[in-house]
Amino acid sequence: MYKFKLTGNMECFCGSGKEFKFCCQDLLTISSLKNLSTEIEKGDYKQAFLFCKAEIVRYMINVKRHTEGLLVRNPLYGNKLLDIDIKALSELLEKMIVIISKANLQIPFIDMLNRLEELLDNGKWHTRILYYKVMWEYLYNNNLVNAKKYLTNISFSEINDLDFLQLYLDIMGDELPFSNKVEIIDRLIKMETKISGKIKYLGAKSIEFLLIGDTAEAKNIIKQAIEIANNNSDKVKESYDFYQYGNVYILGGKLLEDTHLKQRSGTYFESMLSDNSLTVSGKAMVYSHLGDVYFSLNDFEKAFEFYNQSLKLEDLHLTRILIADIYFHKSDFNNSIKILKGIEYDTLTFENKIDFLIIYAKNLLSTVQNRTEVIWILEELKKLTLQSKYFSDIVNELIISIQELLVEKNNKKQRKSLIRKILSKLNEYLILQPNLMGFGVNINSLINDLVKEDNPNKRTKSKGI
Ligand SMILES: [Zn+2]
Repeated sequence: MYKFKLTGNMECFCGSGKEFKFCCQDLLTISSLKNLSTEIEKGDYKQAFLFCKAEIVRYMINVKRHTEGLLVRNPLYGNKLLDIDIKALSELLEKMIVIISKANLQIPFIDMLNRLEELLDNGKWHTRILYYKVMWEYLYNNNLVNAKKYLTNISFSEINDLDFLQLYLDIMGDELPFSNKVEIIDRLIKMETKISGKIKYLGAKSIEFLLIGDTAEAKNIIKQAIEIANNNSDKVKESYDFYQYGNVYILGGKLLEDTHLKQRSGTYFESMLSDNSLTVSGKAMVYSHLGDVYFSLNDFEKAFEFYNQSLKLEDLHLTRILIADIYFHKSDFNNSIKILKGIEYDTLTFENKIDFLIIYAKNLLSTVQNRTEVIWILEELKKLTLQSKYFSDIVNELIISIQELLVEKNNKKQRKSLIRKILSKLNEYLILQPNLMGFGVNINSLINDLVKEDNPNKRTKSKGI
């Protein structure tokens, strides 16, 4: 029987593009999975990188020797074997990404992936390689444009694994119509085996309905999620679970206006504070969520305390904007405006700009109205193009009301009632807003922030909806 052999003059199977004899040939004799783990633990990432390449070569030789032929002779068994191979190679590629980013190695990783892709003419393998290309660009190079480029040639219906489908939703979500987004989320709910994952997707689905203005359906879905969470409170084990349960309970608490659910959410987030494996960003995020929980319970002092704890760990614009909102609620308009003025507006993300403008508008409308500043807010609001019906309705109403307010001939009484109308509408928006941020569809970057170890290249900001 023909037995595949990688010879010295052939291109190495690690994807380096070099000849095997000048690349991984000698390494193969001393490399092993165990040695690879040891080097990672020791923190010798340069050596770990070499071993990781060698292990990929060892596995690819196996695939060439056994799987490739079996796929032709007996496709059923061949495919089973291929699934196992792809899983093993995936683990190695994931290690590789961690090693490269830890050691800040200047490796043309995409070129490596391109060569690995060519080694096996198989759709499943090619889709898996595509996943790593997208992940590399999106989560490690922070390059959304490149990540999108890779995804334009693939339809989500061709993606059959959970990680990839979720990554697809994260990246392409803002370009997909509502029906496609819901279809993807429904598939994710079906594929997900963990309870905390299922309720996370139900929460995301609820938000999608909220964003098109279907509050009734949003409430129905979050009720389902809460029922599942209630029936599975014994399955909350890791920080990741606590986080998802906390998120679902606070969203439910707000949507259903249920104090008990809000308090329960607080309990889950508080349990996370003793977890030492959280990253600094992760901990800052938990404090910020606790601030949000107590804010929604109208406990401004506690909310203030938690937001400040969060700021100490990570100076995020959103946290500062929310602190400004607490001052507004305490009728301390001067301090609220002072905080907002300390934020550089142009550096804000699109979603944070809306929050900023809305809280600014609330403050200006509640105090002496500075006409120049009100006009500035009006002009900035007009510049924002919103895809979500929920947001655009609120912003359009605000624009119309501010325009009305700026008409000089209104008498004092008309102005007062107009301002009241605007403020009540804006409060409605802000009650839900902190939940929409970061709990929409950008679940991957969120999880990356929360549980992975710090990596200088990772995405630091949650993208929002
Ligand atoms: Zn090599």
